[in-house]
Amino acid sequence: MLKVYRNLKGYIPHICAIVVLIFIQVLTDLYLPTLMSDIVNTGIMKNDVSFIIHEGGLMLGVAGIGIACAILASLIGSRVSIGLGSILRSKIFRQIERFSLREFDQFGSSTLVTRTTNDIVQIQTVTVLIINMMLRAPLTAIGGIILAYRQDSSLTLIFAVALPALVIVVALIMTRAIPLFKKVQGKLDKINLVLRENLTGIRVIRAFNRINHEEKRFDTASNDLTSTYIRVNQIMAFLMPVLMLLMNAMQIAIIWFGSTRVDTGSLNIGALSAFIQYASLILINFIMMSMMFIFIPRAQAAAERVTEVLEVKPDIVDPESPQKSVTGNGYLEFRNVSFRYNGAERSALTGVSFLAKPGETTAIIGSTGSGKSTLANLIPRFYDVENGEILIDGVDIRKMTQENLRSRIGFVPQKAILFTGTIKDNMRYGRENATDEEIIHAAQVAQASDFVGEMKNGYDTLLSEGGLNLSGGQKQRLSIARALVRRPEIYVFDDSFSALDFKTDAKLRAALSNETENSTVLIVAQRVGTVMSADRIIVLDEGTVAGIGKHEELMKTCEVYREIVSSQLSEEELA
Ligand code: ADP
Ligand code: MG
Repeated sequence: MLKVYRNLKGYIPHICAIVVLIFIQVLTDLYLPTLMSDIVNTGIMKNDVSFIIHEGGLMLGVAGIGIACAILASLIGSRVSIGLGSILRSKIFRQIERFSLREFDQFGSSTLVTRTTNDIVQIQTVTVLIINMMLRAPLTAIGGIILAYRQDSSLTLIFAVALPALVIVVALIMTRAIPLFKKVQGKLDKINLVLRENLTGIRVIRAFNRINHEEKRFDTASNDLTSTYIRVNQIMAFLMPVLMLLMNAMQIAIIWFGSTRVDTGSLNIGALSAFIQYASLILINFIMMSMMFIFIPRAQAAAERVTEVLEVKPDIVDPESPQKSVTGNGYLEFRNVSFRYNGAERSALTGVSFLAKPGETTAIIGSTGSGKSTLANLIPRFYDVENGEILIDGVDIRKMTQENLRSRIGFVPQKAILFTGTIKDNMRYGRENATDEEIIHAAQVAQASDFVGEMKNGYDTLLSEGGLNLSGGQKQRLSIARALVRRPEIYVFDDSFSALDFKTDAKLRAALSNETENSTVLIVAQRVGTVMSADRIIVLDEGTVAGIGKHEELMKTCEVYREIVSSQLSEEELA
C-alpha cells in the first residue's frame, strides 16, 4: 500500500491543503458544542433573546466554515485519488508494454486486465476514504475526549465503558466480515473467467450445444457470489443498529448521571448538553475509524496485485552499450540454441544450429509442437534463448537494442492480428511513412489486391476489431503485406500460408521471391509444397534439428522428412 502511495509525490501541495482544511473543520466541529453550551446557559436559562440570535449567528457562521472546508477537502481528495489511479494505470500499461512474452505467460492476460482496471478502482475508492478519515477521525475523537473532560471530568468515566464496548462490537463483526469480503474478490474473478470464456468461445459453445451447460456454470458462479454477498450484508446489517443502541445507551447514561450532578449544582445544563454532543462526535468518529479497517484490507490486496506487476524486472532489456548494426544484409545464424518455456519439463528447442543467408529462402518444417513457432519467436527476442546464441551479421541479438533488432525484421506471426482502423493504417504498422504506391504494391505481392479492390472503400475500408470482417486467409495476406511494406533485411513467416489454398500459396511465393531477392527469408510451414523449392530446408523434430538440406537431399538422408512427405502426398492423392 505504501509503495503505491509513493506515486503521490506530485500531489504534495494538494495533500497539504487537505490537511489544513481538515484541521480547520475539526476545530469548528469541536468549537460548536461550546457555543451551544453558552447559548443554553446564558441565552435560554436567562431568556436573553438577543444573545441567542447573536450566538446562534456565530454558530451558523462557524458551521458554514466547517462545511465549506469539508466540501473543499473532499473535492481535492477526489482529485488526488483519481490522479493516483491514472498514474498507476499508465505505469502498469507502460510496464506491460516492456514485458517479454515470458512475463506475459507468467501472469496471463486476464489478470493483467483486472489489475489495470478493477484493482486500481479499489485503490482509488479507499484512497478517498483514507484522505478524508485518516486525519479527521482520530483528531476529532481525541479532541472530543479532551474537551469533554474539561466540561466534566467524572462523566468522562462513561467513555471508559462505552468505547471498549464499541471496539469489541466492531471487532466481533469485522472478524466475521473481513474474510467474507476477501472471498468476494475471488468469486468475482470466477464470474469474470466464466464470462470471458463465454465471449471468446461463443462459436464452440453454440456448435456443441453447450448453452445450457454454460448457463448453469454461470449461475453457479453467480449464486455463489450472491450468497456470499448476502452473508456479508447480514453481518454488516447488525453493525448500524448495534452502534445506535450503544450510542443511545451512552446518552441515557450521560443524562442519568449528569442530571444528578446538575441537581447538586456541580454541573450546569449547558455543559451537560455540550457533553452529550462531544459524546456523539467521539462515537461517530470511532465508527469511522473502524470502517477504515474494513476497506483497508481490501485495498491492500489490490495494491499488492498492482505492485506485483510494477516490480517485475523485464528480463529482456536493452544492453548498456548497444552494438550498432554493422553494415550487413541480414545474415542470420543460430548457434547451438536451446530454449525452455517457464515451468516446462522439456526443452522446446535443443541445440539448434543453422545459417540463413541473404538472397536465399530457408524453410523450417516439422510436425505440430516440434518447436517451429518457438524458433521464430526467438529471432525478434520475444523470448531470450536459454543457451547458445542467435547472431545477425555476426552480432549477438542480445547486444543490439530491441528497436534496432526489430526494425530489421518483417515478422508475420502464426495468428494474423490486425488492428481497428483502415487497411492503409494497418499497412503503415509496417512502416509509418510508406506511400500509397508502396502499400498497393505490397498488397499485390501478397495477393491481397484483388479482394481489397472488391471492397467498397478499397484501401480505406475500415477493419473492425481485429479484422472480424475478413476471412482467415484474407487476414494472413494483409499481415504478409504489412511485413512487406517494411522492406526489412530478414523476413520471418510463421505458418503464414496455412490458410491459403494451394494456388494462392504458389502465386504468393512466386511473387515474393522477386520481392525478397536480397533479403533473408525464413518460412515456417507444415506443407511440403510450401517448402519444397526452398534453398535450404531445416527439419525440426521435437525441438531438435533432424536434417538440413535441399528437398532431394533430405528425401535421401532424412527419415523424418521422408515420413512428412509421404504422409502428405498420400493425403493429397486421396483428396
Ligand atoms: P509448432 O509451432 O512447431 O507447432 P510450438 O513452437 O508452438 O510448435 O511449440 C513447441 C512446444 O512448446 C510445444 O510442446 C508446446 O506445447 C510448447 N509451448 C508453446 N508455447 C508455449 C508457451 N507459451 N508456454 C509453454 N509451452 C509452450
Ligand atoms: Mg506454430
